[in-house]
Amino acid sequence: MRKTTLLITTFVFCWLLSGTFATAQPMVKLTNYTYSPQRASIGKIVSKNATQPKVKLIGESAKLFKIDRNNNLLAQKAFANNNAKWHDVVIEFAITGGTKRDTMRIVKDQFIQNKVIAHRGAWKNTGATENSIAALHHAIKLGCEGSEFDVHMSADSVLFINHDPTVHGVPIEQSQSEELSKMKLENGKYLPTLEAYLKEGMKQNTTKLILEIKPSVVSKERSIALAEKVVALVHESKAQGWVDYISFDYDILRRVLELDSDAKVSYLKGDKSPEELQRDNFYGFDYHFSVLQKQENWIKEAHERNLTVNAWTVNAPNVMDWLLERNADFITTNEPELLLQKVANLKQSAGK
Ligand code: MG
Repeated sequence: MRKTTLLITTFVFCWLLSGTFATAQPMVKLTNYTYSPQRASIGKIVSKNATQPKVKLIGESAKLFKIDRNNNLLAQKAFANNNAKWHDVVIEFAITGGTKRDTMRIVKDQFIQNKVIAHRGAWKNTGATENSIAALHHAIKLGCEGSEFDVHMSADSVLFINHDPTVHGVPIEQSQSEELSKMKLENGKYLPTLEAYLKEGMKQNTTKLILEIKPSVVSKERSIALAEKVVALVHESKAQGWVDYISFDYDILRRVLELDSDAKVSYLKGDKSPEELQRDNFYGFDYHFSVLQKQENWIKEAHERNLTVNAWTVNAPNVMDWLLERNADFITTNEPELLLQKVANLKQSAGK
């Protein structure tokens, strides 16, 4: 008798627990979060369990968007003339015992395409502190395609932006967020949280946010927990249209893709072939340039497999030229001004 009670209690507990996690995940999502005036179709509304959910648009969204019979979200004509940088789409869908609403942010795709990714923001020639919000502002002002930054997690699971695992000798992972939020950067500003950084980056729609998830120095479990926290915060912030993910840890990136199969995810370490990355649904690779100089065929192979090619950290003019000649999609650099000039010169000579 006691055994039966224990079994029932365990079952109820597990059921409650699974319910808690199920509701923590978004139940519907879009396959794409950017809008371009050149194409009416934005993305497909899909549910987590792969069935086609019954959905409808709510409020103002219904004036600017529509949903076709295959659950594709389409822009109405009125939307094309709208100058807003982004729009919130409110979708209602059926769940067991009622309906639920979810808001998705569609960003107008005016993202610059010039290959230039500012490494830790644009700091070297601007006087900004690397990885600061000021360095992000400089990258945006310069007109970089992307601004890269690094994310760690405090002991109490708050996400902070910093390159090293320590700030002024204080280890981020072993410290409480209250202590870390009081720490100042060289520029006198507080250590930024990911939440604040995303909020700032989402005020514009020309420079993408290249989010590096730093592997934990404590454990693999914390690396995976960090990946989960990052994806949850990006989704809560409705920042999917702005963010691409990178990491040296393959398991971190695979976890990101498990949580969001449409996330743009690129691997940094340099030890996976384009074939492996394509098989695992990656967006591309972001390898040290020396890896690509040794394995030049990976650039062509990546493009044939519809993967993007990025290289870090390219500061020498001759390496920039080498990658531009091979049509790398992105080049990550501490010298965005120089690379921007090179790209502009190439564009000018191609136009002649
Ligand atoms: Mg980095």
